[in-house]
Amino acid sequence: MKRAIFETKTRLLMRKDRDAFRQMLADERLPPEQARQLTDRRSADIAVHAYRTTPFYREHYSAAGFTESDVARAENFEHLPMLTKAHVQDAGDGLISTTSAGKDRLPSRTGGSTGRPLQVYNDRLAPTAALWWRVYSWWGIHPGDDAAFIYRQSRSGTKKLRYDLQWWPTRHLLLDARGATDESIRAFESTMRRVRPRLLVGYVEGVVDYAEFVKREGEAPEGLAAVSVTASMLHPGQREQIESTLHTPVFDTYRSAEIPWIAAECQAHEGLHVLSDRRRVDVVDDAARPAADGSVGEVLVTDFDNHAFPLIRYAIGDRTSVRGGDCRCGRTLKRIDHIEGRIADALRAPSGRAVSGGLGGLFNAWPGVVRQFQIHQAADHAVTIRYVPGTDVQEAAEAARAVCETVAGFLGGEVPVSAEPVGSVESIGGKARLVISDVPRKA
Ligand SMILES: [Zn+2]
Repeated sequence: MKRAIFETKTRLLMRKDRDAFRQMLADERLPPEQARQLTDRRSADIAVHAYRTTPFYREHYSAAGFTESDVARAENFEHLPMLTKAHVQDAGDGLISTTSAGKDRLPSRTGGSTGRPLQVYNDRLAPTAALWWRVYSWWGIHPGDDAAFIYRQSRSGTKKLRYDLQWWPTRHLLLDARGATDESIRAFESTMRRVRPRLLVGYVEGVVDYAEFVKREGEAPEGLAAVSVTASMLHPGQREQIESTLHTPVFDTYRSAEIPWIAAECQAHEGLHVLSDRRRVDVVDDAARPAADGSVGEVLVTDFDNHAFPLIRYAIGDRTSVRGGDCRCGRTLKRIDHIEGRIADALRAPSGRAVSGGLGGLFNAWPGVVRQFQIHQAADHAVTIRYVPGTDVQEAAEAARAVCETVAGFLGGEVPVSAEPVGSVESIGGKARLVISDVPRKA
């Protein structure tokens, strides 16, 4: 019933998204060679569009020696200079395409690399709704199904009324992850049991808090078919904790304020599929060359659908690696591994040796033994690994001791590394950092 009403409403109001959705389902199963060609063609198209219609890219690519016909050649794409957050901050409106009308741009703000906020624009003409319909379809969820969200936002009064009416008869529950209390989680949990949404979406830490509450004093909701997490690293221990408590598979997703819906897990749970007919993810080494499959590097994302404010080879600040081989699900979309944490999440030794990447998997050899952990490096370089033990405290302590040795080895034995069991790790607004470093950065 809810699904039928959703179909009717979107047939009337969202014809463009419906067409894009159908196209996406066809494109994700193209033979590999055709899939590659599609990505190549769209890479060149967006680069040419940016070169022709924005002052920034014309200058940026010309300065690196690329003419318009160079930019139009797909094989040159991975040689185009990247777009850094500093570029975006400095160029400002220089990234806006002359073809885009003001009403077609949606401002989106996010944290910059140096704390200076970053302003980008999403393209209102992009079929963004179709992206999540598509990803939901991978999990067996219909966009008209009831869903619950654990986000850093709240809705009340007329805003809530308008929102609920717009989605009627589909119900969307919301738990505000900012300062959630036992009280608010209890109210959320009882609504969950009454409404029985098929999907739960949220920040990892917010979903973990809810799962802990359920384990402690609640009941797992019936009818839940998928849990989708986003916004920070999903530790294997957290996945295990959510799945065992809520009896529902967890799907990791990669999304951002700048580029909505970049990649998501399918039911094979073997890496995340890049929505590579609509986005491109390049993983590069320190010299900005493509990293080999399986080796961790910096993520450069390109959005093929944002013609208003093109983001091309955008250094979004994340690290991961490319997964080779074919996925069991049969989709030919490129796959990447789980996001390894932010570039800023690096440990440093006094000698200048830096370790970034690989840290997210430190406890992988002991699945479920540690729920979550956070690495803190003090100004004097001493490292403390704070971890949340699973059910076996002794086993967790042994794993933590081994991890301390590994990390000390990474840092060449230059700094002391110790472990400390904690009840929870520090998170800001429901989002926990993997590494907190007080080491002063060299200029
Ligand atoms: Zn798959």
